[in-house]
Amino acid sequence: MVQQQLQKNDYYQDMKEAAILSNQELNNCEDKTQNMITIKGIIGLIMSQIDDDNQRAVISLGMGDPTAYSCFTTSHVAEEAVAHTLSSAKYNGYAPTQGLPQTRMAIADYLSHDLPYKLTMDDVFVTSGCTNAIDIALCILARPNANILVPRPGFPIYQLCATFRHIEVRQFNLVPTKGWEVDLDSVQALADENTVAIVVINPGNPCGNVYSYQHLLRIAEIAKKLGIVVIADEVYGHLAFGKNPFVPMGTFGSIAPVLTLGSLSKRWLVPGWRLGWLAVTDPTCIFKQPKVMERLKKFFDIYGGPPTFVQAAVPQILEKTDNVFFDKNINILKQTSESCFEGINKIPCLSCPQKPEGSMAVMVKLNLSILKDINDDIDFCFKLAKEESVVILPGVAVGMKDWLRITFAVEPASLEEAIRRINSFCHRHAYQPDRNI
Ligand SMILES: *Cc1c(COP(=O)(O)O)cnc(C)c1O
Repeated sequence: MVQQQLQKNDYYQDMKEAAILSNQELNNCEDKTQNMITIKGIIGLIMSQIDDDNQRAVISLGMGDPTAYSCFTTSHVAEEAVAHTLSSAKYNGYAPTQGLPQTRMAIADYLSHDLPYKLTMDDVFVTSGCTNAIDIALCILARPNANILVPRPGFPIYQLCATFRHIEVRQFNLVPTKGWEVDLDSVQALADENTVAIVVINPGNPCGNVYSYQHLLRIAEIAKKLGIVVIADEVYGHLAFGKNPFVPMGTFGSIAPVLTLGSLSKRWLVPGWRLGWLAVTDPTCIFKQPKVMERLKKFFDIYGGPPTFVQAAVPQILEKTDNVFFDKNINILKQTSESCFEGINKIPCLSCPQKPEGSMAVMVKLNLSILKDINDDIDFCFKLAKEESVVILPGVAVGMKDWLRITFAVEPASLEEAIRRINSFCHRHAYQPDRNI
């Protein structure tokens, strides 16, 4: 009765039509975000395969959150700095939307340490993690018909942000047999007059690559030739443990303008603190024109930024964290990356073309031809979760079908156990079972 009365009401009808209309719009796939894969979404689906009454502990090599393991805890310096700023009661108010001046200054000094020029606080903006910095970089570069070049395999947040902001995404390949270097020819072939930026993730997620100085220089030269900005995702900055040292892309900022993105999340092992930055590393002011910087500054008024007391702790954290903390984590990651690489390469249906030299993840190729009842990477991950309680990310989530992404930022004993379980899973599903298993 009430329902019928409501339906006679014009206002209700208008509302209903508006709702139906927007649903139709979403259904006819005009909204590309509906089909997008996110890492969190796919990991959730894989987790749901695991039986609740399973006896064995679940081991996740899927999400890159090392804080799940007790060997990856942040430094005392960072904990004490935040405890101090919180209890001082001085940082309960709003911060300026671009970030506290002392925080911007400390980040400018931290980044300048490895650059051939000095950044000032005006070049640095404080963001809610690196994710927020990605979104802001894309928003500020967006214009009608714009496209950006992103790596494949890559980090799906770029596609998600670009799609919401109506920026076209064009993927260039990373070459597995060449240390996952950028296929520079394909970059040139993809770009046109509407290309605004190229994304470089170094050290790399999902590949664990660390690019050489020479390779980064070549990328900068191509960006210059194309007249585009480099978005340098350096959220894993300094997490390098192979032959190449970490070289910040900003080193080449005078060749092509670089937007350097980073955060405390990975190097300090505090992804939950949501403290990141966007730095305009552009010493010759190609991008850094007064009007552009005014626009960027104003854009930050949309956001509140990370909690003020976390921002206020940043100068202490960046200046006082000692090398013992960094070295310890690098050593664990070096060890787990090596045992992951060696363990995976002993499993017949899996191969790792490139030893990881940085970040926390590696790409692994799946050889389906020797597996009797596995259709593809998704099928592999679903069955592995169900049978072995091990979670890994199917390659499609990062743009590489029939590959897998394995996170090695895991306690060494858990990693070994996970590799044992993956090995017995692979043997069980192989055409010719190995009698030793
Ligand atoms: C983890 C990660 C991010 C996001 O970092 P947050 O600071 O947690 O937002 C961005 N880019 C890459 C490549 C990452 O792996």
